[in-house]
Amino acid sequence: MQNNSPSNPSNFPLWRGSGGGYEEDLSFDQTNIWHPYTSLTKPLPTYPVVSAEGVRLKLADGRELIDGMSSWWTAIHGYNVPELNQAAQDQLGKMAHVMFGGITHEPAIKLCQKLVEITPEGLEKVFLADSGSVAVEVAMKMAIQYQHAKGQSQKSKFMTIRNGYHGDTTGAMSVSDPEGGMHHLFAEFLPKHFFVDQPKNRFDETYEEEELAKLDQFFRLNSDKCAAFILEPIVQGAGGMWFYSPDYLRKIRELCDDYEILLIADEIATGFGRTGKLFACEHANVTPDIMCVGKALTGGYMTLAATITTQHVSETICNGEAGVFMHGPTFMGNPLACSIAIKSLELLLNSNWQNKIKGIERQLIKELIPLANALIVEDVRVIGAIGVVEMKDPVDVPKAQKFFVDKGVWIRPFRNLIYIMPPYVIDETDLSKLTQVIIEYVSESNT
Ligand code: PLP
Repeated sequence: MQNNSPSNPSNFPLWRGSGGGYEEDLSFDQTNIWHPYTSLTKPLPTYPVVSAEGVRLKLADGRELIDGMSSWWTAIHGYNVPELNQAAQDQLGKMAHVMFGGITHEPAIKLCQKLVEITPEGLEKVFLADSGSVAVEVAMKMAIQYQHAKGQSQKSKFMTIRNGYHGDTTGAMSVSDPEGGMHHLFAEFLPKHFFVDQPKNRFDETYEEEELAKLDQFFRLNSDKCAAFILEPIVQGAGGMWFYSPDYLRKIRELCDDYEILLIADEIATGFGRTGKLFACEHANVTPDIMCVGKALTGGYMTLAATITTQHVSETICNGEAGVFMHGPTFMGNPLACSIAIKSLELLLNSNWQNKIKGIERQLIKELIPLANALIVEDVRVIGAIGVVEMKDPVDVPKAQKFFVDKGVWIRPFRNLIYIMPPYVIDETDLSKLTQVIIEYVSESNT
């Protein structure tokens, strides 16, 4: 009998090892390598993956799991995609990397041209960043430099929505939800900003006047100290997988204009079709002053993000005291990542992605919504290729994870949320397997 428990592996024939073999390697992993938000003294199980193809991850013991997570919103075309592999190989034969200071190259230029073409009209000046969090830092610095250049250096704070998430670097963390992010640990370190309540109304609801009046009040009280309002449009992701009314977004756009502060849309999770529109701002017909994209930009192959702004913002910044935008990471505009991103966008835009996402949405609604009747389920919601089952109580993640893996799927819950956002290329049978396993988990936990 095989024991395939990740914390006590005994049979990983596909693990190549490096002298020591899998037991030593996995023990080193548990004691010496931090995974996202983990302890090195009480490590949780990690599942060794040896390869991935299409929508399947292959474990070291040979089992295959249907991927419900797209590696955290990134792998929209699935894994081991021939066209993306080819783009990487072609670029590798030319140059993997070259500095971006004083040098330019075709992959960066072609990618930025494409981003300008497909993002909402008016967004046309691109800063290539190396991760989502950095793109957010860049957006915040743009807003600060913009206000400074306008002689408004007192506008140095930010407004944002509770339950948001914008990344783990200092600036990004300071505008992420204070409780969810355990900000009290970092209280002396993080700058303080202004948080307004999470939007109450759902995606398909209109926004109540009373709620909009609260936003008015919030702007009246705080906007004179703020450079920008930063938000995740329509979908609050890591902060709770909440889908809110486009009216709310429209109202914030109006208020930002009235009170002369910038609107930063963090489309890092929502960008590139996930909600059924190429960018979630399009649900409200809103153009932000600054937009951040990342995650799915390279189809999950490499870390790359971008912060895109308007002529007006960039011109104001460049006419300010510094005369330049004050940021420039070492790996900025990495040619390998840019080449893969160009190909990933080409694959997406040449596919019938709108129909595909609609189909996924219809199937998620049909198969997941009935779970809302279960006693232990608080809510079920779907938008585009995102399906969320919100439980009444927190999920025991290691236990649920083992349940899902034993059933052949990769779904990683957090807090009280079991959610999926599969690669867009998933077929109906594999998607049904994902929803079926969630249904089984809920019914077993319900008894
Ligand atoms: N913004 C949003 C909306 C995100 O969901 C994330 C990551 O989950 C980030 C920013 C941070 O991106 P990264 O993890 O690439 O730094």
